Amino acid sequence: MSIATDVLDPVVEALRHVLRDDQVLTAKTDRYNRARVPAPFPVHRWAERVPDLAVLPESTEEVAEVVRIANRFHVPIVPRDGGTGLTDGAVPLRGGIVVDVKRMNRIHEIDLDNRTCTVGTGISMLKLNEELARHGLIYPDDPASYPCSLVGGRIGTSGWSLIGSRYGHTRDLVLSFDHVLPTGEVMHVGDGVGGKVSKSSSGYQLKHLFMGHQGTLGIATRATLKLFPKPEAEFSPFFAFSDYDSAYACVGALARAGVATFAGAVLFDEWKVAYLRRDDEAYIPQPADVRALVCAVLYGYEDEVRAGGRRLMRIAREHGARYLGDEISEGDWAARHDRYATPLHGRTKAGQVVPMSWHCEDAAINYTNLPAVRREWHAIIADLRRRTDVFDDWGMFAYTSGSTGVDYLTEIDVGIWEQRLDDRAWEMWVKAKRDIAAVALKHGGSISACHGSCREGEVDLVPDELGRGFGVMLDIKRTLDPENIMNPGKYLLDRAYGEGGRP
Ligand SMILES: Cc1cc2nc3c(=O)[nH]c(=O)nc-3n(C[C@H](O)[C@H](O)[C@H](O)COP(=O)(O)OP(=O)(O)OC[C@H]3O[C@@H](n4cnc5c(N)ncnc54)[C@H](O)[C@@H]3O)c2cc1C
Repeated sequence: MSIATDVLDPVVEALRHVLRDDQVLTAKTDRYNRARVPAPFPVHRWAERVPDLAVLPESTEEVAEVVRIANRFHVPIVPRDGGTGLTDGAVPLRGGIVVDVKRMNRIHEIDLDNRTCTVGTGISMLKLNEELARHGLIYPDDPASYPCSLVGGRIGTSGWSLIGSRYGHTRDLVLSFDHVLPTGEVMHVGDGVGGKVSKSSSGYQLKHLFMGHQGTLGIATRATLKLFPKPEAEFSPFFAFSDYDSAYACVGALARAGVATFAGAVLFDEWKVAYLRRDDEAYIPQPADVRALVCAVLYGYEDEVRAGGRRLMRIAREHGARYLGDEISEGDWAARHDRYATPLHGRTKAGQVVPMSWHCEDAAINYTNLPAVRREWHAIIADLRRRTDVFDDWGMFAYTSGSTGVDYLTEIDVGIWEQRLDDRAWEMWVKAKRDIAAVALKHGGSISACHGSCREGEVDLVPDELGRGFGVMLDIKRTLDPENIMNPGKYLLDRAYGEGGRP
């Protein structure tokens, strides 16, 4: 707990004036359940991240009331949606109030003519799409965490959709939203007064400012989203290669081909293939000489998908691809949502199987820099592994970001033996994360393409990436959150205030 009891009691009392008792949670289990995210953390430092209480608001006005109370009592407040974020964004570093928005999960409107829907930000894409399917529509934000991350968290992280080459990423798909500022004022973010306009040039383009801030600039409560016709057909060719270089050349050619139904492609390197072959229950057996894979996907009407598919097959064959058959293709592309939900285990250097949690470091890298980044990232993990058995290299993959394939989300997955993550191993890991981020910057990339970068290690390099922009971030934070209550301690934003982040 970080709030003194003489402050906590009046905070709880004030909250109980605006929320029902079942919306104000103070029990240990309720609080502990909201401290955890999937990224491994030294277990012995668990107590540092537990909130003092959690609230379950049901409307924008209730969220605003909670934020006003936090402001009045100078208490930290942290928005939390699915809790699937991988850089500790929803972890309350200073305790305080966790605002769990899961009860704000209603579909308020489906506008069939304008092809939009308006939802509470506590809804998941899976639930939303179950309803939209009845109208022949989809909301195509499709992270690997599709069933369990929620619309508000997608806004908070400005997420990456695996089929973004066809439909765009979260930033493109969210048209507008209602947002509670750190002072408790409510604003509408997005173009036009109706909230359904996708392109305007009135004033500053504030939408991007209020996306991807990891809950440091407020809480999105209700969002209007773009919808598309539910695709009639899917084609997901799955290509095998005996070496990385041919697979790399192939994925670039597929992305650059300009096939309109092309929704995305992923490139698995030989480390990833070896890990899947060895330790992933969901892996579909492949011939032993397969060392790299490219999995593409096309969505659209039957006739256009068939034509686009033929072209991609031709391009892949020209790059030496071996087509592995429809069953493997469909099975593996479908596994994108649950690959990381399988029981996790890694290997020590001696090959012993041990329980390991999954951690990934992501970056946005231009196509031409992928091979060099891959070499340097694997070298960093190899060095860690030489020194300790706490870490295992689970390989890399790269996803196209858009139909031209100019830059890629590239990610290295690391198995971490969480129970052995003592202070020494944690320090080694933080340094490795910093080194990984430095490689991304050295090659002209960004530290993060989708998860954000507010964890120890990579966060240190955010000012290097943004330059003068980081100073602007500090100015914005100080202006919008004068009491530094909104998710304090993240993104080095305490530097906007006095000592210890105190205004
Ligand atoms: C198995 C797995 C696969 C993943 N694959 C992908 C992927 O393909 N693409 C991708 O982009 N990410 C992926 N992620 C990461 C994660 O799912 C995303 O970062 C996601 O956007 C987080 O959503 P969430 O609802 O879980 O948010 P949370 O983890 O609850 O919150 C994330 C951040 O947003 C803030 N926030 C939460 N709610 C709000 C709100 N209403 N308003 C403002 N800020 C808010 C939080 O304070 C926090 O900083 C994956 C994670 C896992 C575990």
